[in-house]
Amino acid sequence: MLVMPAQLVCPRCEQDWVRPYRFKADGTSFLLCTECDSLWWPDEAVAVARAHFLDDVVAARLGVEGNPWSDRVWADVIEPAPDFRR
Ligand SMILES: [Zn+2]
Repeated sequence: MLVMPAQLVCPRCEQDWVRPYRFKADGTSFLLCTECDSLWWPDEAVAVARAHFLDDVVAARLGVEGNPWSDRVWADVIEPAPDFRR
C-alpha cells in the first residue's frame, strides 16, 4: 500500500505540487506536475532522475509521433484523480 504525501512539491521545477492524475481511457494513475509536465508512476520515487515527460508518455500510449497535443487537449486524455486505483 503506497501512502501518498498530502502535498509534495515537484522536485524538478519546485514551482508546483505533484498531483494525482489518471488516464481517462483506462484509469491508469500517475503523478503529475502541471507546471513542468513531469510525470511519475505510482511505484516510482518522485525524484528528478526518475521523472518522465507527460508528452512522451501520452505520445507512446496513443501511438503518435512527436507532439501529441496537436489535435487533442489534456482533458481528452487525462483527468485529476481523487486517489489512486491500483
Ligand atoms: Zn514541476
